[in-house]
Amino acid sequence: MTSIEISDAYLDASLAVDERVADLLGRMTLAEKIGQMMQFDAREDLEHIVNGRHAGSILHTSPEKVLRAAELTAQTRLRIPLLVAEDCIHGHSFWEGATIFPTQLGMAASWDPDLVERVAKATAAEVAATGIHWTFSPVLCIARDLRWGRVGETFGEDPFLIGELASAMVRGYQGDGLDDPDAILATAKHFAGYSETQGGRDASEADISRRKLRSWFLPPFERVAREGCRTFMLGYQTTDGVPITVNDWLLSDVLRGEWGYTGTLITDWDNIGRMVWEQKVQPDYAHAAAAAVKAGNDMVMTTPGFFAGALEAVERGMLGEADIDQAVSRILALKFRFGLFENPRLPDRERIATVVARGAHTDLNLEIARRSLVLLRNDGTLPLTTGTRRIAVVGPLADDAQTQLGDWAGSSGQVDWMPDGHPRTQITTVLDGLRSLSPEGATVEYARGADILTLTDDPAGVFPDGQPRPPVVVPREPDAAEIAEAVTLAERSDVIVAVVGDRIELVGEGRSTATLDLIGGQRALLDALATTGTPLVVVLMASKPLILPESVREASVIWVANPGMQGGRAIAELLLGEIEPAGRLPISFARHAGQQPTYYNQIRGQHGDRYADLTQDPAFAFGDGLSYTSVEYGDPEILTPVVSADDTVRARLTLRNTGERPAHEVVQIYVRDTVTSVSWADKELKTFRRVDIAAGDSATVEIELPASECTIVDAAGRRIVEPGEFELLTGPSSRNEVLRAVSFEIR
Ligand code: BGC
Repeated sequence: MTSIEISDAYLDASLAVDERVADLLGRMTLAEKIGQMMQFDAREDLEHIVNGRHAGSILHTSPEKVLRAAELTAQTRLRIPLLVAEDCIHGHSFWEGATIFPTQLGMAASWDPDLVERVAKATAAEVAATGIHWTFSPVLCIARDLRWGRVGETFGEDPFLIGELASAMVRGYQGDGLDDPDAILATAKHFAGYSETQGGRDASEADISRRKLRSWFLPPFERVAREGCRTFMLGYQTTDGVPITVNDWLLSDVLRGEWGYTGTLITDWDNIGRMVWEQKVQPDYAHAAAAAVKAGNDMVMTTPGFFAGALEAVERGMLGEADIDQAVSRILALKFRFGLFENPRLPDRERIATVVARGAHTDLNLEIARRSLVLLRNDGTLPLTTGTRRIAVVGPLADDAQTQLGDWAGSSGQVDWMPDGHPRTQITTVLDGLRSLSPEGATVEYARGADILTLTDDPAGVFPDGQPRPPVVVPREPDAAEIAEAVTLAERSDVIVAVVGDRIELVGEGRSTATLDLIGGQRALLDALATTGTPLVVVLMASKPLILPESVREASVIWVANPGMQGGRAIAELLLGEIEPAGRLPISFARHAGQQPTYYNQIRGQHGDRYADLTQDPAFAFGDGLSYTSVEYGDPEILTPVVSADDTVRARLTLRNTGERPAHEVVQIYVRDTVTSVSWADKELKTFRRVDIAAGDSATVEIELPASECTIVDAAGRRIVEPGEFELLTGPSSRNEVLRAVSFEIR
């Protein structure tokens, strides 16, 4: 082994990054370069990963392994530090006892970018202390078909809201720059169009045109690319026959070309292998590696066959070493900029002890949980009055601590070292919350009432790459005795709080659902509870919009997504009227799975507007969410009836809180382009304002919207403003019935 002198240029931190990269690259063998492009699962043999494969990065690791890997890289010829990555997507997911926040969809219901930025900052501090450099978050996919298993990982269905929240999250993770010891690298994923699945089937062909990508799917990504998100991860899908991994148009022309993106691109899990064994569009790993490198991928996630494949591709002249150099340069540049050669940012026991799950993070978690709860219907039962003496808490999710955390946390299945999930003592369930917060003299009793599912092995065995298939869900039959117990409890109570929803086995990758119904005994339980005549509050703890049975069509409903460790407390506070409802839907709720897709910004034009057997209206629309008070929206007043495309549209409206409690309003501002040269969405969210109004008070909201944002994408795929008439629509939700319009013209 040759030892390196400190005089080696790449180790000299005073040199420019480009010089350091060039120097280091010049010393690397082809095998070292190929290895540098590879990210391995750290649960495999570390010695082989570092010494046998010269890996550039690892994921899914523990502090012990980070330290061991650092020891190993320190003994290698060039001592190139590893980038250590993890999916810390709503908190430090797989660090036992870290702060687990609501899922992304839950956070989106807050419509509060500042709060989301603070959550990401807190997450980054916890993650950085443990020696992890890079999180695979946020998700910028647009949720479309609700059957898709990954809806809960998204910020919902609207590109503008996604852009606002995603850029807040990136700012939070990446902090004040890469010198910030609490900063981590963010990843915008999954680039792009992965969520436009067929029938909600995960990672299936995304039938999506370039114009449609440019219209709705790319804008949030473009925004975070321009704002400096350091890395991008690809999706899994093919589009027009081309796997995303080799989509030269998207990666080279658009991302690197038009947007000038200089960050690092990472594939998704074994994308390169999948082109061989799953999509069958490459005959072998040499061809697959050559195609992926040429398309501009930098880091290759968990495709062990890439090593031999890329070596062979170079040997056979299918791939030039210069192509590999480009990718390796971007990876090395990231490591230099992040200062890893000077400080490998190893786990720090002292920081771990003071930062992970610190009190301020728990408080922040409670704050965002409170803001994420969406009151969808209130028959007058809420908030519970002080006269409510007997509270019946019912349902399989009322006291299920780990399910409350949702996907990508603890025991959700991606890692094997936390079979029991996060510490129970850190999690407040709805039952815990009601027990601790109910007024003195009130009783809180619990009956489970129903089970959701059991599992059986998939008879198809493992996947061709050896990974296990998710087990098959077998819905539980309603249990008459369990239901009877819940009904008896309900009959002797003043109110029923029924906590129902989905479980991890119905959520996530490869776990799309055919229906959107409550699974197992839950529907029968709600049907039975509805017959008791006791006021019923349904707390829908569901990763994504689900459909409630007809029997509870008049009951009060709160959707809470997966509300994180403090969720049960926040829900209890809301039920008891200690806080005000504040969340708004970032996604529409269907009445029936057959209505898919139900997103609000659909393209104009179809015969009629309903199915023969059902309305097309959603059960609850994007932007919906009630308060415990009533708020009247005045008509918007346009201050600039005619503007040019480089002017600002100005308008004003007044809201009045006519009820007796405070309001946390989200004033939503949509734009309708009345005539467009190509078909377009009937209206689109362009901005929003959060306003708090005390009971009896009014608030005036000033709206400023650059006319340059009133765009469409024309037939040639160009984003343009088409002069003409527009409508500014203002109100508390995307529903036409509650929006008030005023016209303006762009000349
Ligand atoms: C998921 C990504 C995730 C990666 C690493 C993939 O299967 O699609 O979102 O970041 O695994 O865990």
